[in-house]
Amino acid sequence: MMRGNLFVISAPSGAGKSTILKKLLTTVANLAFSVSHTTRAPRTGECDGREYHFVDRATFEGMRDEQAFLEWAEVHGNLYGTSRAAIEAQQAQGLDVFLDIDVQGAKQLRDCGHPGAIFLFIAPPSWAELEKRLRGRGTDPEETVQLRLHNARKEMAEAESYDYLVINDRLDEAVDTLRAVVIAERCKGRRNPNGTPLDLVAMGLAAQ
Ligand code: 5GP
Repeated sequence: MMRGNLFVISAPSGAGKSTILKKLLTTVANLAFSVSHTTRAPRTGECDGREYHFVDRATFEGMRDEQAFLEWAEVHGNLYGTSRAAIEAQQAQGLDVFLDIDVQGAKQLRDCGHPGAIFLFIAPPSWAELEKRLRGRGTDPEETVQLRLHNARKEMAEAESYDYLVINDRLDEAVDTLRAVVIAERCKGRRNPNGTPLDLVAMGLAAQ
């Protein structure tokens, strides 16, 4: 079984990342979405274990101290972390795993040279559109919207450190672009130590 890829995806809040990812998961096979742990309270309609594992601060800090997180960060005043064991299990099953994490978490993975991780950044087409989308959600109070707009300025500054930049102007086009990236990365030579592409070995097509 070939190990799955790890796609790390970040975007300012409101850029449409969750919508794009949900659509992508319905159109590409063998993709999994990492469900993070967070101390944030569930929003209306969110379900424990689906969008997030919602935990209290003590539980989160206990997991963090036991090194249960591949990365973790404080975002907009709440703690978020990616379970090391869950990602490992999904990749071992051959699934390509998507981590929807903030720029601080992505930086941790980049800095520790996480093997083979692919970094994608989703940007809105303009600041005005980002603000419109954040207000349009109607789920967050005004001060939260303001905090997220403020943080978006800092997050956008990190975009150039990512491997791929996707502008989410039209949803379908952004999903198509992301799908193209996943397919291209799957085709990229996954090689064994002597340089033979692993797919060819599995298919019995490797040169003798
Ligand atoms: P929200 O509360 O709107 O769902 O997410 C807020 C931010 O937290 C988003 O930028 C999201 O990508 C980020 N986030 C979600 N899960 C994780 C995680 O496990 N680690 C890190 N570093 N950021 C996360």
